Amino acid sequence: MTDVTAMTATQIAGLVATGAASAVEVTQAHLDRIAAVDGRVNAFLHVDTEGALAAARDVDARRAAGEELGPLAGVPVAVKDVLTTKGVPTTVGSKILEGWRPPYDSTIVERLRAAGTVMLGKTNMDEFAMGSSTEYSAYGPSRNPWDTDRIPGGSGGGSAAALAAYEAPLAIGSDTGGSIRQPGAVTGTVGAKPTYGGTSRYGLVAFSSSLDTPGPCARTVLDAALLHAAIGGHDPRDSTSIPAPVPDVVAAAKLGATGDLSGVRLGVVTEFGGEGAEPGVTAAFNEAVDTLTKLGAEIVEISCPHFRYALPAYYLIAPSECSSNLARFDGVRFGLRTGDDGNRSLEEVMSLTREAGFGPEVKRRIMLGTYALSSGYYDAYYGQAQKVRTLITRDFTAAFERVDALISPTTPFVAFPLGARTSDPYQMYLADLFTIPSNLYGGPGISVPCGLSDGLPVGLQVMAPTLADDRMYRVAAALESAVGTFTPPAL
Ligand code: GLN
Repeated sequence: MTDVTAMTATQIAGLVATGAASAVEVTQAHLDRIAAVDGRVNAFLHVDTEGALAAARDVDARRAAGEELGPLAGVPVAVKDVLTTKGVPTTVGSKILEGWRPPYDSTIVERLRAAGTVMLGKTNMDEFAMGSSTEYSAYGPSRNPWDTDRIPGGSGGGSAAALAAYEAPLAIGSDTGGSIRQPGAVTGTVGAKPTYGGTSRYGLVAFSSSLDTPGPCARTVLDAALLHAAIGGHDPRDSTSIPAPVPDVVAAAKLGATGDLSGVRLGVVTEFGGEGAEPGVTAAFNEAVDTLTKLGAEIVEISCPHFRYALPAYYLIAPSECSSNLARFDGVRFGLRTGDDGNRSLEEVMSLTREAGFGPEVKRRIMLGTYALSSGYYDAYYGQAQKVRTLITRDFTAAFERVDALISPTTPFVAFPLGARTSDPYQMYLADLFTIPSNLYGGPGISVPCGLSDGLPVGLQVMAPTLADDRMYRVAAALESAVGTFTPPAL
């Protein structure tokens, strides 16, 4: 059998379905790969060897019994440590949840199991999904398989690194401001943020509830679409879940793979047409725009004048919601408790716990958010940011009257060296300059590899109207059919 770790999820599922490989063999091959390379990549915070092999055995038994298996049965998947997994440690990259084993599965994980996928373990991330490099993980950064002295993006850098290092063919991320798409871009992999509410937040440790969106990560667009279809759809346990079926993203990816985009109108956002991006990123993006034209797409320039206020609005809204969401980590209900010597007051124990348990970036966000929400400042900051959010939504709505989807570089720069942006938070925040607008609007976005700059991957982002996730898959698959996939040098 050829090396299954080099295969796509689609190929692996095919092997398992025909019996050419057992799910146990496939799983063991990935566990071996993790054992061989993860010391250098640090993509995983926890590898669930026993759980993975048990799930694989179950798939093999079901196949032997003649049961109908789904399109991803027997395929290994790595799950960002932001999603609860029953009995399996869930840290959110934070010391405050070290050792916590949730008593329940998140909906996403429940659906992954129902689809017959095999969860390999939990991936590294910036603490509470705040960051763009995984350097804010309390458990050390993940490294980019393209160059292990560089960042794999964040916050879901572990998931993206696991894909690029061939430790897993599929992974789950969560995207609040770009945490699926930006890691995808800098690791040469595919990352999709579904329409907000299109994937369930039940069991997703909350950062910014009006923005948080779990979604698929993969090495090909079709694999991402298959994963999206498996995890998406209405969930009554999430009050903002959309009671509508998942758009047919798999059919759209297959249609796109034919390489024909005739009749598709794509808008290049004037404000993001490479402006503010590194020259190498702009060059790769412009070349991809030419490719899309050759595939038949009509390219239109579209101005979205309020997109330039997206980053500042996000850094009021997201911290505000986080300051409220993270109040629950009080040393009483979950994980860490510090200073409870029997003599201290509850307030003192809470304060000592939060002091010891949260890292500096999380504390910065809580303070920013508390300030933005405080009486006397609420209207000037939080209220103002919400108005900007509305204006950004109107920019999108107006744009989608003229084009089917918008395109931009995913992120302004390629993977930067570890440590290059940790001393200046603003430089770190800029990684999400192009991805944040669709979070504020709620529409879907995907990052697909479009080329290299100095040997490092560059991603192209496709943004679609809410509930038109299929459109972005079609465009992304078409681009992929023309430019191919990108493989890092051997680790
Ligand atoms: N990098 C952004 C932040 O730090 C977005 C993170 C995310 O999408 N979870 O908030």
